[in-house]
This record gives sequence, C-alpha cells and structure tokens, in this order.
Amino acid sequence: METNASIGLEHVDSYYAASLENAVDYPALTDAVRCDVCVVGGGFTGLSTALNLAENEFDTVLLEANRVGWGASGRNGGQLGSGFNESQRELEKNFGRQRAALYWNLCEEAKREVLYRIRKHQIDCDFKFGVIGAAMTRSAADDYRQEVDHLRSQYDYDSVQYVNRSEIQQLLGTERYRAGKYDRGAGHLHPLKYAIGLAEAASANNARIFEKTKVKSYRNLGLEFKVRTESGASVFAKHIVFACNAYIGKVSASFSRWIMPIHSFMIATEPLSEQTARQINREDIAVYDSRFSLDYFRLSADRRLLFGGGEKYYPNTSEDAVKIVRPRMLSLYPELKDVRIDYAWAGQFALTLNRLPSIGQLEENVFYAQGYSGHGVALTNIVGKALSRKIAGFPDQYDAFAEIPHSAFPGGRYLRWPMYFLGMLFYVTRDRISILLDRAGS
Ligand SMILES: Cc1cc2nc3c(=O)[nH]c(=O)nc-3n(C[C@H](O)[C@H](O)[C@H](O)COP(=O)(O)OP(=O)(O)OC[C@H]3O[C@@H](n4cnc5c(N)ncnc54)[C@H](O)[C@@H]3O)c2cc1C
Repeated sequence: METNASIGLEHVDSYYAASLENAVDYPALTDAVRCDVCVVGGGFTGLSTALNLAENEFDTVLLEANRVGWGASGRNGGQLGSGFNESQRELEKNFGRQRAALYWNLCEEAKREVLYRIRKHQIDCDFKFGVIGAAMTRSAADDYRQEVDHLRSQYDYDSVQYVNRSEIQQLLGTERYRAGKYDRGAGHLHPLKYAIGLAEAASANNARIFEKTKVKSYRNLGLEFKVRTESGASVFAKHIVFACNAYIGKVSASFSRWIMPIHSFMIATEPLSEQTARQINREDIAVYDSRFSLDYFRLSADRRLLFGGGEKYYPNTSEDAVKIVRPRMLSLYPELKDVRIDYAWAGQFALTLNRLPSIGQLEENVFYAQGYSGHGVALTNIVGKALSRKIAGFPDQYDAFAEIPHSAFPGGRYLRWPMYFLGMLFYVTRDRISILLDRAGS
C-alpha cells in the first residue's frame, strides 16, 4: 500500500519510470517564499497550469508531494482521447446542442494543446496517432456506428471511422470484438516523459518547482494566502490551484466529495518480436473496450504490450496487478502465455458521478481541478490553460468547465465506498450478462 510520507515517494516501479532516460530532480521547499500563484500537485493539471501561467509571466510556485508525474499522470494508459468520457449524443441530451458543441471544441483544443506542447518544447514522448474503441457486443457496435455517424455529420470530425468485425480482427489479431470506432485524430504517448517535459518547460519559463513538498493546509490572510507544508516551509500566494486529483487525501474534504478515487492496474510484457507485435496490433494504435470496467492496451516504443484494467473501488488496495491484469490479457491473446511480465503497477484516477471534469473555486482565488474520469491525458491540458486564463482575467474556458453541475457521491465519507462498490457491481454484472447473451446469439 502506498503511504504518502512527508519525505515524499519515488516513482512507482513501472515501465514508464524504468524507461526514463533522464529526469531532473527538483529541490524540496525548505523556507518561506512568495509568489503570484501556488500550484499544488505536479501531475498534468498542475504542470499545465504552471507552464501556462509562467509563460504569461506570473510568478508561479508548484509544490509536489512526491515527484513530478508521480500520480496518475506518470502511470496511465497514455491514451490521448477525443471528447469527454460521455458520447456527444449523450451530452446533447443533457446540455443541449450548443453546450455539447462547446465541450467538443474544448476537447479538440485539449488534443491540439498536447501536440503543440510536444512540438514546442520538443518533448520526446513516443507520440503516435490512432486509438480504437473496441465493441464487445452487438449493441455496443451499434452505438459506435451511431456515434461515428454523428461526429462525422454534426461535428465535421472525419478522423473517426467505423470498422466492421473483420476489419477489427485484422487490426487487433483477435476475434473478441464485434466492431470498432477507429479515431485517427486521437493518439497515445509515454505519459511520464510528457509530464517531465512539461515540468522542464515550466521551469525554463521561471516557474519554481519543488518536489517532496507536501501541502498540509492553507489559510486566507486577507491580502494573500499562506500555504503550509508538512515540513514547516510555506508559500505566500495571491492565488492557489489545487491539482491533486485522486491523491488529494485530507487537504480538502470540501471538493474531494465530488470525486471517487478508483484504482486501475497495468502490466508491461517483455519486448515482443516484431512479428507478434504486428499480429496483435498491426497499426500500433491504442485500444480500449466498450465495458464500464474496461481493458485498455497498446504497444510501447520498444514493443512491449502495456495492458491495463481491473478497476477496484476501495480507498486503499495493495492487490497484485499481475494477478488482476494478466488473465485479462491472456483471455484476449492466449498466444502470449509464455511472455514474461516485466513490470506491474497501479494508479488512482478520479471519477465523478456524471463522468465530466469537476473544476471550481473553494473561495475567491482558490481553485481546484479534478475528476477527469479516465480522460485526463488530454483534458488536463486544456483545464490547465483554462485556469491560467481565468487567473489572468479571461474566464471564458474556465467558466465553461465550472458551469458543469456535479453531485457528491452518496454515502458521505464512510459509506460512499460500499455504496459505490454496489453500484459498480451492478454495471460490471450487466456488462458480463450482455457479453454472454451476445456470444450465445452469434
Ligand atoms: C492506471 C491508469 C490509467 C489511465 N489511463 C488513462 C488513459 O489512457 N487516458 C486518459 O486520458 N486518462 C487515463 N487515466 C487518467 C489520467 O491519468 C488522469 O486523469 C490524469 O493523469 C490526472 O492528472 P492530474 O494532474 O489531475 O492528477 P495526478 O497525475 O494524479 O497528479 C496529482 C499530483 O498531486 C500530488 N499531490 C497530492 N496531494 C498533494 C499535496 N497535499 N501536496 C502536494 N502535492 C500533492 C500527487 O503526489 C500527484 O503527483 C489513467 C489513470 C490511471 C491511474
């Protein structure tokens, strides 16, 4: 189990950490400093916020409890997806066509922002285009077909294409899937290299980054805020941005009630032969399936299969990622049974009840951003930009996010996990039954 000691933790033993060529160490904060904005958390949200602020000449301090990219940002599936974790048709039902289009445009800008950052700062993070949603049932295939038609006809998004059963079999070397939603405008990357690249760019623009510096509390002093760290050091700032996502802990219960931290598990195989890699993923694209508790996978730059899934809904878990994920990988690719597993790790992301990001203010000039619900690789980058624009006096993008209504998870601090567990059990069981019925009907 991870404990977040005040001295801070190193990166988890993941493929991503092992494949870093160089990572700058940032110092811990040891005394009192003053700045315009104090950003708490060094994942994509905090780094993107700090970078955008620093580029606009805000004196910015970023405090990270562990290492830059230590949280979900340095451990994830690396999929840079399109849109929210909710289809555009669903968004239109809930928010109307105009607002749904606004969200689509923000999500498109999020992907562009990532590509812009990679290019501008020359971040070497193995980026490749191509993500496919893989339908496990006929009804999921129908849904993908409708969504593809909708995106192409209503949003002029021609990068997405419906692929039929035999085409997806060719692409992914398995008969498991009924059809696919192939998005050539989405992509995948090495997330920890990207996080470290953002940190270097922020630092080059004079943002001051401190690692192994855990924030304990903050106080409003009237003209500024005092942010206190566990070591006793402090930051005096005019604005604070909390970007701690699922790792927020007890720093603020007032905004963490909108999110549920979920554990997800990943493994990395040994490098596969060129032939095997091509057989299971002909076009080197990222894959996710259509279930609520989904599998996701892709190849690394050195041809390992990076496979994730097996979400768990307890506050803490020390479960073995290999035991959870390897059987899922083998049920799809039994031919990999003798392939060694070199790395296994877990991470936490934050889910909201409506699966849309939760962005807002605790009080004037104190912001939080969290709850990307599995779509944070792209979204964190536009949210960081939106927060920096809001602080600079341009609230347009921030307001669009902040206006999304959220409900707290039912059950309060202690009962929300059992209640959520029961809810998830319902969805997982429903998915299993639909897959069984689907197979029985084929
Ligand atoms: C296994 C896994 C797979 C995923 N796959 C995908 C995917 O393929 N595509 C996708 O879009 N999304 C994916 N996600 C989600 C995505 O990774 C997150 O949405 C995104 O990284 C969130 O970034 P963040 O900066 O908000 O949070 P994080 O990256 O979690 O960063 C929060 C940081 O805050 C720090 N912190 C916490 N408390 C304090 C404190 N008190 N003081 C100082 N620092 C503090 C933590 O140490 C941490 O580094 C995945 C997540 C996981 C766990």
